[in-house]
Amino acid sequence: MTISFVSPRLLMIGGGSVAKLAEVLAQFGLSRPLVVTDPWMVSSGTVEKALAPLRAAGIAAGVFSDTVPDPTDTVIEAGVAAMKAGDYDCLVGFGGGSPMDTAKAMAILGAAAPGVKMRDFKVPAQANRGALPVVCIPTTAGTGSEATRFTVITDTERDEKMLIAGLGALPLAAVVDFELTYSLPARITADTGIDSLTHALEAFVSKRANDEADEYALRAMRLIAPNLRTVYGEPSNAIARAAMMKGATLAGIAFSNSSVALVHGMSRPIGAHFHVPHGLSNAMLLPAVTEYSLNAALPRYAEAARAMGVATAAEGDQSAAAKLLQELRDLNRDLAVPTPAAYGIAPATWDGLLPTMAAQALASGSPANNPAVPTAEE
Ligand code: NAD
Repeated sequence: MTISFVSPRLLMIGGGSVAKLAEVLAQFGLSRPLVVTDPWMVSSGTVEKALAPLRAAGIAAGVFSDTVPDPTDTVIEAGVAAMKAGDYDCLVGFGGGSPMDTAKAMAILGAAAPGVKMRDFKVPAQANRGALPVVCIPTTAGTGSEATRFTVITDTERDEKMLIAGLGALPLAAVVDFELTYSLPARITADTGIDSLTHALEAFVSKRANDEADEYALRAMRLIAPNLRTVYGEPSNAIARAAMMKGATLAGIAFSNSSVALVHGMSRPIGAHFHVPHGLSNAMLLPAVTEYSLNAALPRYAEAARAMGVATAAEGDQSAAAKLLQELRDLNRDLAVPTPAAYGIAPATWDGLLPTMAAQALASGSPANNPAVPTAEE
């Protein structure tokens, strides 16, 4: 089997590393960044943690801060206009997955001919070109977008979250500073943390799993599983925050070189139609999808349980996999993950949408990588 392995050319990981952004840019000969971020990052002063050291190094960055959660094609078009209006030589995605994905999508759309739309890059198309290199600085320990060859953009005309894949979405470099995550509210800490655990688990059980991605997935699970409850309950625990941040990046590398699967395939339509935060919709689905998939990849789920520390090496696969499932249910309880109904999505509102959502999930390609592949009716 031949494996193509991708990751950013430079990964700088460590507390306080955001202050070294100018050094990172200088290594690539870059000096005119447009920082892509969201309104909270500006109003809270968080983006200053990147901008102030840049100014000290004599770099005056532009700022595009109109990113929205689950970024839309219309925001990307506005971002491309801002990018083209200035003399920039790189984009810096600063924030959670939404600003990072916005920066990546701006690079991709910015390289396209006039009239080309974001939806023209939807999987199975390949988005291999970027107008400018992208450097990512995550502020959630979640999506791993800083290290993946993906960006997820909402098609506003069709209410569809589109997966866009290719080297054009792969950041040139990432600066991974766990100290940026101290300010996360407990809810976002939990949701984004489960997102990263889902990435590692889905990458590991995927039909596209391979030796190289496995190493990253297992390391990610070893880091995330014992620290997720800790960061939820003790937001200023530096050791746990550092482990979660590194785990999220490693999980990103894992699924970027394997794939995500059924949880993510089903999660995107929920996000598009009901605006449930991405990590939270993953969390709502993870135990049920795992239960559905378990017997199709029992040894893999069992090994994941051992990596997560919920089963021993001596334990048989059946018992270990059962413990994994129980752990996922317990995690949702301990992290107060609501059911869709408790979140305010009454069955009556999604009933009529189910066929569309099932079709969108299956069309995204991710479910085909799941150990067990459901029909639309399932
Ligand atoms: P997000 O970027 O949408 O941010 C959620 C909220 O958290 C925002 O209000 C933001 O301002 C706030 N926030 C972020 N960092 C903070 C901090 N340090 N302190 C306080 N508040 C903070 O959330 P996300 O979960 O990181 O990203 C979700 C998006 O990423 C979705 O669109 C999802 O589809 C996408 N995604 C992309 C990939 C990929 O590989 N490209 C992978 C998984 C998910």
